[in-house]
Amino acid sequence: MQTPVSLFASGPAISAPEVAVEEKTALPATEVHAPAVDSSVIEISSVEVSTSGGLSSLEAKAATCRLCSLAETRTQVVFGTGNPSADIVFIGEAPGRDEDLKGEPFVGRAGQLLDRMLSAIGMDRNQVYIMNTIKCRPPNNRDPKIDEVQACNLWFEQQLALLQPKVICLLGRVAAQTVLETDAPLGSLRGHWHNYQGMPVWVTYHPAYLLRSPTQKQKSWQDLQQLVSRYREIKG
Ligand code: SF4
Repeated sequence: MQTPVSLFASGPAISAPEVAVEEKTALPATEVHAPAVDSSVIEISSVEVSTSGGLSSLEAKAATCRLCSLAETRTQVVFGTGNPSADIVFIGEAPGRDEDLKGEPFVGRAGQLLDRMLSAIGMDRNQVYIMNTIKCRPPNNRDPKIDEVQACNLWFEQQLALLQPKVICLLGRVAAQTVLETDAPLGSLRGHWHNYQGMPVWVTYHPAYLLRSPTQKQKSWQDLQQLVSRYREIKG
């Protein structure tokens, strides 16, 4: 058995799942109404979003979003990165300082650990898609507020509808509680499968937490092994 400290630095190689390369079928155009946002700065209660243009079109629209007050403090919208045809999508809570500056989710030390976690299961960023529940950095990396989550759900829902992954992996308590709409602690959400819009959902630790609590890496490794095992079953 690996020691927790060495985990992800030299994790055992397991064969990488095949990654679909075909474009997924575009969904029909839909009109989505955003929830009313309690913001003294921005008063937008609805916006029309069409998924007919695909993920890049949705990203371009999100880039100018001002549906919540985080637009006032962000540097840029951090939409997502990776393979838009990926069958596994990893979701964190929100961009941090490095992500806000670079415009890409999971950069910096936590991002480097996520890369090692992916490598440990035989993957890299070109084979998965990585995103957050909300697209703009909350000041001082605080947890996102409910009105911010509700506003950004406009983009989140459409993004996942276009990606249509076979498996979703939620990274950390905030992402898990947000997507699964629960107050349950992370410990009770790990270890069994959930569902989001018909897609199977797995929960594990956020890489930033693992940096603070490296003794949890062994549990994280077990989570990833179960994630890949289920993914292989689904892929057949
Ligand atoms: S966090 Fe989401 S809803 Fe708020 S401004 Fe950014 S993209 Fe728009």
